[in-house]
Amino acid sequence: MTSSTLERHEAVIVGTGFAGIAMAIRLRQDGVQDVVLLEKADDLGGTWRDNRYPGCACDVPSNLYSYSFALKPDWDRAFAEQPQIWEYLRDVARRFGVDRLMRFGQHVVEARYDEQAALWHLRTAAGDRYVTPALVLATGALSTPSKPALTGLESFSGIVFHSAEWPEGDDGLTGRRAAVIGTGASAVQFVPAIAPRTKHLTVFQRTAPWILPKLDRTFSAREQQLYGRFPLAQKLVRAGVFTRLESRVLAFTAHPGAMQMAEKVALRHLERQVRDPELRRKLRPDYRIGCKRILLSNDYWKSFERDDVTLVTDGVSRIEANAVVDGAGRRHDVDAIVLGTGFKVTEPYGDLTIVGVGGRTLTDAWRDGMEAYLGVAVAGFPNMFLLVGPNSGLGHSSMVFVIERQVEYVIKTLRLKRSRGAEAVSVRGEAQRRFVEEMDRRSSRTVWTNGCKSWYLDRFGRNRTLWPASVLAYWRRMRQPHEHDLVLQTGGTTS
Ligand code: NAP
Repeated sequence: MTSSTLERHEAVIVGTGFAGIAMAIRLRQDGVQDVVLLEKADDLGGTWRDNRYPGCACDVPSNLYSYSFALKPDWDRAFAEQPQIWEYLRDVARRFGVDRLMRFGQHVVEARYDEQAALWHLRTAAGDRYVTPALVLATGALSTPSKPALTGLESFSGIVFHSAEWPEGDDGLTGRRAAVIGTGASAVQFVPAIAPRTKHLTVFQRTAPWILPKLDRTFSAREQQLYGRFPLAQKLVRAGVFTRLESRVLAFTAHPGAMQMAEKVALRHLERQVRDPELRRKLRPDYRIGCKRILLSNDYWKSFERDDVTLVTDGVSRIEANAVVDGAGRRHDVDAIVLGTGFKVTEPYGDLTIVGVGGRTLTDAWRDGMEAYLGVAVAGFPNMFLLVGPNSGLGHSSMVFVIERQVEYVIKTLRLKRSRGAEAVSVRGEAQRRFVEEMDRRSSRTVWTNGCKSWYLDRFGRNRTLWPASVLAYWRRMRQPHEHDLVLQTGGTTS
């Protein structure tokens, strides 16, 4: 029998991806030494640990996809691949000494706020307990795989797995007939990677994705040396990439009509990649580009030119022991099914019960949809911070940049709390309401709420995932905590 532990720490971070690691590093640099990171898996890395499907890479240029405080001069390519990004995270955690603060196999299942003591009490699945006055949830927006309830799936006799749970080693697909369900950002990367080795690949597309050419290339040794010797050179390139991506924001957020140019580029790309007009017609999206995430690939569309790859656009009707039956009643005999069906984004923290002031759960607070002030704080949940929370995702630039802004915001809010001798800090309900109203107002003009269904929108059709403005605007907003939006509680009094 193993005995469970009870530990108290100045700060507890849940999750060890880009967000958790940055938070731990900055807390320590800011003088908060007693920090632990609780991780349910057996290694660090978040999304870049879980998503190791063949072909997995980042679609944000690598020069921008790193922490500002830990540039990496020796990225292999313009768009880094998963193994190198994962290694980068491990390296940063080691270099900044936060790997030692991580506890693996610690699946937090409950976080309960004690109002009297202004402390969070955490409980893990194994029964270990942690107490802290500062809780940071860095569990990521894309961490819980979404597995559709396909009729008959349980009767399938072959292999079934989700793209974020790709088997290590032999995945069993080589020389077999496989079905892929879903054609989002993940599938677009793994379909071309597995097509050459499956016996036959049948791809079930519900909605065609928009795809632009990927301007990828390897970096030369000279470039890497240059960046290594002169970090300023890489900073300039990074600023250039940031500016280029940021320049597209108006088309996403205010003038979706301006997206037509990008559509033309994508359609030319489709024409070059696929000769058969009927196949092209099936692959051509029927909504405004940008409404769903714009994908980058030079080989996805081309895969369908292969004789051993079939595109099915009639939907999935049911699964049988050895086949997927499409909406038109056709049987597709397969030995394996890969679910490229995305993540539960608008219902986060599904496996974690969070209980705030007055015994109110976060699930209850979010019954009408998730919402958070600036993406980082929720009224009624003092001393708790979210990283990559509601309305702080991006459709057009690097999330690492946003994560750093949020981390700085948390650091400054905790400093404010300390400087006032306060026991608790939380956001005012009114401030959160104003923020959410602003998000709704801004979102109504964006390309995301005009013409398609995507995981950006919740079940009521509201954008509760993306920040509907420029990254620079978010940066400005996050520079200092706005004291009038916060409640600081000191020895029984609040201000
Ligand atoms: P996704 O973009 O949400 O795509 C899921 C796909 O599955 C969609 O094609 C969806 O169709 C389909 N689908 C879902 N449920 C289905 C059902 N019941 N029947 C048939 N089809 C179904 O998921 P993802 O590809 O895993 O990507 C998720 C996000 O991860 C991306 O948007 C991106 O933010 C991130 N990502 C990033 C990178 C990167 O390079 N940085 C790479 C991979 C992923 P509908 O479109 O019709 O819903």
